[in-house]
Amino acid sequence: MSGTLHGVLFLGAHPDDETIMIGGTLAALHQRGIPVHIACATDGRGGEAGDVPNASTPGALAHVRQQELRCAADAIGADSVAQLGYEDPLMGPENELFGFAADEDALVRQIAALICKTQPDVVLSHGSDGEYGHPAHKQMHHATFRAVCEHTPDVLFYSVAAAVPGIEDRIWNAGDPAHLALDITPWIEAKHAAMLCHRTQHVLFKRRRKLATVREAIRTVESVRCQWPALSADRPPEDAFAQLLLALGAWRPDHRPAP
Ligand SMILES: [Zn+2]
Repeated sequence: MSGTLHGVLFLGAHPDDETIMIGGTLAALHQRGIPVHIACATDGRGGEAGDVPNASTPGALAHVRQQELRCAADAIGADSVAQLGYEDPLMGPENELFGFAADEDALVRQIAALICKTQPDVVLSHGSDGEYGHPAHKQMHHATFRAVCEHTPDVLFYSVAAAVPGIEDRIWNAGDPAHLALDITPWIEAKHAAMLCHRTQHVLFKRRRKLATVREAIRTVESVRCQWPALSADRPPEDAFAQLLLALGAWRPDHRPAP
């Protein structure tokens, strides 16, 4: 089956999205011999610095987070990492989150050029709700959707963090019911190593659920929804990517056998 896939490209808004949302799946694909490419829109300067020294200014944090992204990509086994070069806006006074300053047409062309360069069969990006509503995640979802539809319609587009019934997670996109969900436990060490790379985010990873360790913060279920090509309602995707995920142990949440 792996012979039928030539590569996968994940397009995220921030350094760490690749790991948190889909890192186990990317590691699994890499271990199956499938080229994995990661691209990140922003430099992450608008995020937290945690307890990492030398990251106390936005410029320094951007520098550290670029290194963290490369470290995580290595842990996942990615073949390439691309930076789209946008400045990550700082959070507002009430912790408001913002999209990044990009002309959407230019961003779409940039993504299309990256697809042409890396030649994936499948592009992965954020969900239509931006997971927890993050404007930069929504921006990447829309721009990726447009890039595929308008420039490379033979490429599949799957969104990540698709909603899996019966599993609670604040990052699930309610508007994107999952077509496939994968228990990434067999690849958890690669995902854990990638999370350890994102040192500036460790305080944040643990804080929300009052966890003691980064390992406890690992999401063991990752999920996707086919966004392109459009499928008729209640028809599950049957493409080579879906077949490969099923071969890796993924299940179709609509058709999960009773425990
Ligand atoms: Zn993000």
